[in-house]
Amino acid sequence: MPELPEIQAHAERLTERFAGRVLTKFTPFNFTALKTAVPAPDSAYGLPLLEVGRRGKYLLLHFEPTTFVIHLMQGGRLLSDDKLSAKPRGGQARFSFAPDERADGTADGSALLLTEQGKERRAGVWCIRSPDLLTSPPLDRLGPDAASISDDELAALFSVNSMRVHGFLRDQRMVAGIGRRLANEVCHRACVSPFANTRKLGADGAAIVGAAIRSCIVESLEYERSRDDMSSSKDRPSAMHSRTGERCPDCNDIIRAVTYSCYTVNYCATCQTGGKVLADNTTSKFLK
Ligand SMILES: [Zn+2]
Repeated sequence: MPELPEIQAHAERLTERFAGRVLTKFTPFNFTALKTAVPAPDSAYGLPLLEVGRRGKYLLLHFEPTTFVIHLMQGGRLLSDDKLSAKPRGGQARFSFAPDERADGTADGSALLLTEQGKERRAGVWCIRSPDLLTSPPLDRLGPDAASISDDELAALFSVNSMRVHGFLRDQRMVAGIGRRLANEVCHRACVSPFANTRKLGADGAAIVGAAIRSCIVESLEYERSRDDMSSSKDRPSAMHSRTGERCPDCNDIIRAVTYSCYTVNYCATCQTGGKVLADNTTSKFLK
């Protein structure tokens, strides 16, 4: 799933290509694509796209006074659309714009198409009055953004939430923007066990994890900004993520895994757990 760096770089590319374009129509291709009833999308018709922003893993299409919030989920993409086909493959929704009248001849697609590959239809669009943006679902439940969370904010959250740090990092209510890949990378960068307890990590641990969050995001963002399109998960730089059985780039130990039904925690025992191999709960989950 695209995480904060991928969404941020994509928002920047979309702003560059589409800011100033006037919305003429919003077309959902199935009844689950639009998650809100009020305001209606036509409240933004005739208005220019001010910019494409980001909060957590959400893209924000800002039209004053209406904002479209988009979540790509696992296989979603929001891409320039020139074909304008009546039934685009994997199509969830389309934002159609008035013809581009810019003088520099950089005519881009006349629409943005939200697609989602795969069977699950989970990507979606929320249409929200801009003043209510941060107090309405889905953004109202997000924790501080991972790109800007301070060590003090992180320490405060650690002190009141007793969780495994890997689970904490992936929980959007705690800190917004981190997913499975970055959680693996941040824990390794911080040299903490993915199972370390947040409350026990304390303020000192929060400072170390905070620094790791910042450096992992900066690195991923730099890579993502070097591209013309959003990376797929296999392209993204990683020391740990999806590298079970390979060697740790820092200490050459073998990279280990704890496997859950829908994701895998990767870690290096030498760097992160003092050599202790974490119990793989593949078997224990059947006891629950
Ligand atoms: Zn290592």
